[in-house]
Amino acid sequence: MTDSFAIDPTAAGLPDAMTAAGGRLTIDLAALRANYARLAARAAPAECAAVVKADAYGLGIARVVPVLRAAGCRSFFVATVDEALALAGLLGGDDILYVLNGVPAGAEAMLAAHGVIPVLNTLREARRWQAFAQDAGRPLPAALQLDSGMSRLGVACDEAETLAEDPAFRAAVPLRLIISHLASADASADSANADQYARFAATAARFPGVPRSLANSAGIFLDERFRFDLVRPGIALYGAQPADVDHRDAVSPVVTLEARVLQIRDVPVGAGVGYGLTFVAARPSRLATLGVGYADGWPRRLGGIGAAWFGGRTLAIAGRVSMDSMTIDITDLADGALGEGDWVELIGPHRPIEMVAQEADTISYELLTSLGRRYQVVATGADGVSA
Ligand SMILES: *Cc1c(COP(=O)(O)O)cnc(C)c1O
Repeated sequence: MTDSFAIDPTAAGLPDAMTAAGGRLTIDLAALRANYARLAARAAPAECAAVVKADAYGLGIARVVPVLRAAGCRSFFVATVDEALALAGLLGGDDILYVLNGVPAGAEAMLAAHGVIPVLNTLREARRWQAFAQDAGRPLPAALQLDSGMSRLGVACDEAETLAEDPAFRAAVPLRLIISHLASADASADSANADQYARFAATAARFPGVPRSLANSAGIFLDERFRFDLVRPGIALYGAQPADVDHRDAVSPVVTLEARVLQIRDVPVGAGVGYGLTFVAARPSRLATLGVGYADGWPRRLGGIGAAWFGGRTLAIAGRVSMDSMTIDITDLADGALGEGDWVELIGPHRPIEMVAQEADTISYELLTSLGRRYQVVATGADGVSA
């Protein structure tokens, strides 16, 4: 979804014939805005930030961030320095931009110049940022991540004590935020959540006055003590259910994916379909070839497993998914119901993203962030938001 392929929302009224895309990705910006508003209301009085790493989970920072800002979001998280630089120009002067993966050696000056706040994940990184601030002759704010049990990123809780007790560090590096990340927030009954909560709260208490943040999307739906001072939703903003508990009242779908019918054919009993001829028609069949394949981020694993939806019916994928196309069995549709050039639903109201992800043996995060760059992108509901 590079912008060169993106269709400007104002041009969304172009007839289909004006674009040759085999897939159409519709992004409902009104739903994005509503998701932010509901998450923020639920988290209040904690601040609601937005995680916009990986190009806003594949939806495009340039269309997502202005909507979130208009909804009142002022704190943003990305993963990498490159993502921070790409985002910096979209933010207002008072917005706060955090880089979750920290500051690689040599990138300190660039982050400081842009006012980007690194999340310090190791003692060595913390000392390097401290030295850079001391050399620069001015305090340079940062966030500190604690490893409260996930063993992924962050300073071990006992190591963090040495920073808490070091006045030189505290003077050179004013901490704007202390964070940690939950390993099992999507499993609401898992006792690991309470363990991480306790470890995080105990260590964060060693940094009095520094705001604390623990909850991702799923964490917002745990009990309210997990919300601390700031919450960091990503996936729920983008309309996928964040947890084992369904929160359809709070999280509305944002993404619809449709595929264009390239060709329709009738085949006799015994006809093979697709690479390896893994599907063999057991009855006289009508097939539709769709213009979406694994190069578009549509999981190849869905061959013989997944489906599309059209005209009140679930239409099974017949055979393997190719790079640029796949074939569905439309035998059960009424004659002429579906024609070449028509669109069928791959992700949407009848094919929820959680269901498609489950069929593909993955998670909605991976599905969204894998979306390819060839789609016609239509952004709806952007009224009143200037990008
Ligand atoms: C990606 C990420 C988030 C957002 O997680 P979701 O499950 O998408 O809400 C929050 N915090 C950290 C540290 C992350 O890496």
